[in-house]
Amino acid sequence: MAWVDNSDLRLTPERPYTYFTMELYDQSNGIRGGGGLGVLAADTRRVAEQLDVPFVLLTPFYPLEQHQIRKTEAASNSDSVMDFELENVFLKVHPSTNGFEHIGDTHVATKFDDHIKIEIWQKKMGSTQLLTIYDPNFRELYADEGNSNHRLYQEVAMGFAGTEALKIAGLQSNVIQLNETACFFAALARLDDLVSNGMHIFEALKYVRDHTLYTNHTLVQAAEASFTRTQFAEFVLPNIKSKSVARWTMAQFPDSDGHVKYADTDKLTTQTEAPLQLSSITLELSGRKSGVSKLHAKVANYHDLDGNKIHFDAVTNGIDVATWTMPETLKLYHDMDLLTKYNLPSHDYLDKLPELNNEKIWAQKKIGRELLIKALADRQIHIPEDAIVFNFKRRFVDYKRPWLAFTDPERLRKILVASNAYYILAGRVHTGDTSMMDRLNKIIDIVNSDEELKKRVFYLADYDEKTAYALSVGSDVAINNPIVGLEACGTSWEKDIMNLQILISTEDGGVADITTPGAYMKIEGSDEAAEVQSLYQHMEHSCHLLRTEELAGYLQGQIAAYLPTISGARMLRDYIQLLSK
Ligand SMILES: *Cc1c(COP(=O)(O)O)cnc(C)c1O
Repeated sequence: MAWVDNSDLRLTPERPYTYFTMELYDQSNGIRGGGGLGVLAADTRRVAEQLDVPFVLLTPFYPLEQHQIRKTEAASNSDSVMDFELENVFLKVHPSTNGFEHIGDTHVATKFDDHIKIEIWQKKMGSTQLLTIYDPNFRELYADEGNSNHRLYQEVAMGFAGTEALKIAGLQSNVIQLNETACFFAALARLDDLVSNGMHIFEALKYVRDHTLYTNHTLVQAAEASFTRTQFAEFVLPNIKSKSVARWTMAQFPDSDGHVKYADTDKLTTQTEAPLQLSSITLELSGRKSGVSKLHAKVANYHDLDGNKIHFDAVTNGIDVATWTMPETLKLYHDMDLLTKYNLPSHDYLDKLPELNNEKIWAQKKIGRELLIKALADRQIHIPEDAIVFNFKRRFVDYKRPWLAFTDPERLRKILVASNAYYILAGRVHTGDTSMMDRLNKIIDIVNSDEELKKRVFYLADYDEKTAYALSVGSDVAINNPIVGLEACGTSWEKDIMNLQILISTEDGGVADITTPGAYMKIEGSDEAAEVQSLYQHMEHSCHLLRTEELAGYLQGQIAAYLPTISGARMLRDYIQLLSK
């Protein structure tokens, strides 16, 4: 692995980099996730494959796949595409129909059923593989609330059956990366394996800590899942072989005074019901902790069980450049020597960038636009070839503020009409998020009551990787306006920069990694009203750039600033270096 310096990890095909994730978003392998966390997992594996890094990704194969569609398909025939209600539907899926091979079975236990069969399915791709664990009763990704028994069951199954799956596949884990605390039980299962094979618990704790990286994507510890003693007694303990590991596990619960109490495992259910934050016990077993952007690592406010503030290293999320850049544009970057064959920025990419001129840029944008026009036509949406397209595509959650551009409908209409521009929204609303549904309905009302906006604003339901790709390659301007301090990283904007879009963004998440003035169009303002003004000014300015020769100079600046951040190969190298320390 010449591309990584001083790696003493000694990753081999039998002892690969081991990555646990409850969510994978990888439609080409038949697994649909929910958002950025799953896309990151899929990209990390793809980058490992390109770099020939021994890598195994473990994830549940959920038998139900969620889609969010329009209730009234008739709406597609009406003159406004903003007229609909959303409905969640589930498709049945199975690993056998997606090229996975059944390599064996294992089981997990609960208090109610001491032998739940879990199937292990494998798919090898170059130096990497996917190991999925399957139970027809897993239901869907993120079924029920975060603190529910079912979620705990899914997580326990991932950890314990996943650890068995590695053995069935003939692998030993090297370092393990936990993509969020929900994967904690993988570290616990490893601890239990070591101790039940004769290692002293103190030695085993040290070993597991030295070999576990916990990657945090959440900002506030209180927002993390927590479980009660009863839940642990019913779902976790039946899977633990070693008495001392069981005792250690239950001792992590705070007692009613908030202090740790060493429990007698035989009397667990009679103990106090103060719940245990999964993040707290995850921190106990993880020697390394990382956040997903520089800002996020700094502001994530986590404390261990003794109340000490946790230090997170920053490894900013990158993307698999090969997946998310239009092939023609990727070829251009390689021809220009901006990227190496590993899709890392070349040593002299800054010197080469000025050759990225308007002619080259527009040749790429034309191909991308054709692709978007086709994708939109499939949804009965028609936009002219020479229009300017703004896009806002990401999960519809409060802090991402999908409504921001609709604050002043008059101003928005003026901007869109003056430049023959369109505004496309895409993103799923979290099931049960009624306040966001209300927000979305308000946007719809605003649009439907204005003849021009009605022609120029569209919402795409059932946001997925394909839609994300089409909007990335075919739009002109990406809008990313989370409330500053609340976005962990975000990766949509990285796809947009690679595909030669102008980025308008608040200084948040991974965007805030770079502070060079002019690196992107920064939304600024002391309050939301001021931010809205800033957003509109940038929208006007980007229309100007797109209609003049100034575009190339501007885009060169964005790529110069962000190419290293965006490179998924850079991200994997950073992780390996962090784990080698
Ligand atoms: C890239 C991508 C995301 C990531 O979105 P962010 O809000 O930028 O984190 C989510 N969903 C899909 C389908 C994607 O392709």
